[in-house]
Amino acid sequence: MLFGRRKKNPIKIADKGVKEWKYTTCGYCSTGCSIEVGLDGNGKAVASRGVASADVNRGKLCLKGIFEHELFYTANRGHVPLMRDNSAAEFEQTSWDKALDKTASEIKRIQGTYGRDAFAIVSTGQIMTEEFYTLGKLARGVIGTNNYDGNTTLCMSSAVSGYKRSFGSDGPPGCYDDFDHTECLLAFGSNLPEQHPVIFWRLREALEKKKFPIIVVDPRVTMFAQMADIHLPITPGTDLVLLNALAHVILEEGLEDRGYINAHTSGAAEFEKLVEEYNPVMASKICGIDEDTIHKVARMYASAGAAMTICTMGINQSTHGSDGVVAINNLNLITGNIGKPGGTSLSITGQCNAMGTREWSSCSGLPGYRTLENEQDREDIAGFWGIESEFFPKKRGLFMTDIFPAIEAGDIKGLWVIATNPMTSMSDTARIRKILGKLEFLVVQDAYEDVETNQYSHVYLPAALWAEKEGCFTNTERRVNLISNVISPPAEAKPDLWIFNQVASRLERGKLINFPETAEGVFDELRQLSKGRMLDYSGMTYEKLEKERGLQWPCTEGDDVGAPRLYTDGKFQYEDGKAKLIALPFIDNNERPDEEYPFWLNSGRVVEHFHTRTRTGKIGNLNKFSPTPYMEMNPDAAKALGIEHESYARLTSRRGDALVLVQLTQRVPPDMVFIPFHFHECVNRLTLGLLDPYSRQPAYKQCSVAIEAVADEQDAALRNVAARAY
Ligand code: SF4
Repeated sequence: MLFGRRKKNPIKIADKGVKEWKYTTCGYCSTGCSIEVGLDGNGKAVASRGVASADVNRGKLCLKGIFEHELFYTANRGHVPLMRDNSAAEFEQTSWDKALDKTASEIKRIQGTYGRDAFAIVSTGQIMTEEFYTLGKLARGVIGTNNYDGNTTLCMSSAVSGYKRSFGSDGPPGCYDDFDHTECLLAFGSNLPEQHPVIFWRLREALEKKKFPIIVVDPRVTMFAQMADIHLPITPGTDLVLLNALAHVILEEGLEDRGYINAHTSGAAEFEKLVEEYNPVMASKICGIDEDTIHKVARMYASAGAAMTICTMGINQSTHGSDGVVAINNLNLITGNIGKPGGTSLSITGQCNAMGTREWSSCSGLPGYRTLENEQDREDIAGFWGIESEFFPKKRGLFMTDIFPAIEAGDIKGLWVIATNPMTSMSDTARIRKILGKLEFLVVQDAYEDVETNQYSHVYLPAALWAEKEGCFTNTERRVNLISNVISPPAEAKPDLWIFNQVASRLERGKLINFPETAEGVFDELRQLSKGRMLDYSGMTYEKLEKERGLQWPCTEGDDVGAPRLYTDGKFQYEDGKAKLIALPFIDNNERPDEEYPFWLNSGRVVEHFHTRTRTGKIGNLNKFSPTPYMEMNPDAAKALGIEHESYARLTSRRGDALVLVQLTQRVPPDMVFIPFHFHECVNRLTLGLLDPYSRQPAYKQCSVAIEAVADEQDAALRNVAARAY
């Protein structure tokens, strides 16, 4: 009986007339939920549902997944290629042949005039693994530019860099099943319930079976912090100090796993010497967490039979993002918490296929976790593709965040942007506008014609979206899953794989290399190239991926399930087989609040939206929950400035200004405000985005702003409405 009601009304599910369900994988976040799209008698996608037999989501979907079939019919999809002479002119519709010929001829012209690296490519974490690999083949083997990177530099490159520095290779060592085995979970900069709702549900499910402490480190009282046993409201940008202090206590009190340190790590002496300096008294003054709590958390973590750490953008998007990930790895290495059930460093990725680009895109090197710096790797890939290895550069070129300043400096003249939207996602919008306006040639390849970056393009190529094509994604726990082709793309939109192959066929060197036409044909190359390597795909086929609802790599030939964890034998990817403990001194180099700009500006995601709202902003059932740029502000701070709940406020930083609707809440402390990062002409008009020295990832979450009430509320309301228009 529900609250006194004798008769429970039956739940009525509207009959949408589904005649057929087609298997696929969610195309938003990196959780990797298996999803079925329902088609009616006319072949129209009318419903989405979670797949009960999939281990990842066990029938669940979050809000975004539930409405994902509506994506196929969203507004402002690109239907035909567009061209114009300059970004001030109107676009004109054109044929694919003309748009592709123009793109190929501009690549040749720019490279012929200014050199190979004067043409750059910036891609994404959203397209299929087979498409990433093909784009890499095109960029590295045909076009030959070394200025090729993806938007994963804005979200995951600190994790990649941190894993490489600690373990000798990228690759998250743990999996969701670790929640079922852990005895203590420490979360850094991760608002799991909003960012990865189904991973959060897996955690809740584990907690229902067995209680274990949840410790959340976040400057804001996020949804995750609200359910935590201990919330550490850390001073922005100081995670490294806290992590060094935790290691200090563990070593000082003899709580470390000395056997594991001796057998499986190098660099212990230097690391231990450094963390000696980070006693909790000294650390508390920098990171804002009191010394008793530091002691308590260190003891809890080290005494748990198995303890795990998860981290997301709160760690990555920082000037010491890479160091933060390494410091988490240090903590888990000294406590012997790598490669065992419930003991891991799990960086939770952002985009649906951020892992696929890390593995196969060649952005940071060559496919299959090979590097440009390694001669054997260059020879292997050149041999496989049938080209000369001398064509490859001997070290990686610019990261995405360095490509834009290189355009500003005049070193790069042409750019190809694929399924990403730097006009909204990069720091300092005004500067990015100027930079894009400087390009001699910009080609934008995207499913949506109204993606803001397209304002500056000369050619627009309309791409197919998510399940309008076929291929694979890899999720956060290294699970490769299949996206089947559910329906056809609209009008003349084409799969990204087709577009890459067409560009290759128009360039001289494209004739030297085989470009398979089908995604499955490309997947076969991945299986061959990965055989015997850490990310072995050789045991996977499309048929098996659908049947098993995804397989985790390494999955060797004959292997039916794949491996849930890495480093279970304590052997790492460095030549000596040991992981590195790395001494990490803290350098405080962020922009901090001062008299002129007295507030920390923090940014992040809300559950209803994804990235720059290119998709979710057009789905009514998502957009209605969060339609407008807003700011969380502490009531005390607002009162002092005469700012009221649901009024408008203007923020200024040293870069620009932004207008937001005010939401008063105790979630943020008096010296901090929070703004969702999804909205165009909003938070990134303010951010500075200093770069991490290893990963070149921007510190989106640490800069300072001033705030004032807006005098003309009516005008502000109109501007706010304009900012949310779709
Ligand atoms: S949790 Fe992520 S993968 Fe799962 S349905 Fe939601 S957006 Fe999709």
